[in-house]
Amino acid sequence: MSIMEATLEVAAGQARKAGADRICVVTLRIGSLSGVVPDALRFAFDALSPGTPAGGAELRIETVPASFWCSACQARFQADNLLAVCPSCQSLSRELLGGRELELTSLEVE
Ligand SMILES: [Zn+2]
Repeated sequence: MSIMEATLEVAAGQARKAGADRICVVTLRIGSLSGVVPDALRFAFDALSPGTPAGGAELRIETVPASFWCSACQARFQADNLLAVCPSCQSLSRELLGGRELELTSLEVE
């Protein structure tokens, strides 16, 4: 819940800055390792957005797979858990490049 509260505050602030009264679409990007469940976000959005500039807005959620760096292959690869094994050389990577993000990527306002 608190994640969504913070997100709605940021969204309202950005809408105000843009001189907009209403937000039509809120787009969030969440990493597959962020520990955030999209359904829980939608639930929180529906519960918290009425009465804010984002009330009635559409929530779009983009999920980003986790990506790792293999130092042996000098290549990036994707995996969905923290014990990531490079698909080319089977070595274990601990260099997480992305997958924990939770960010507001865009807003459409009017
Ligand atoms: Zn490798």
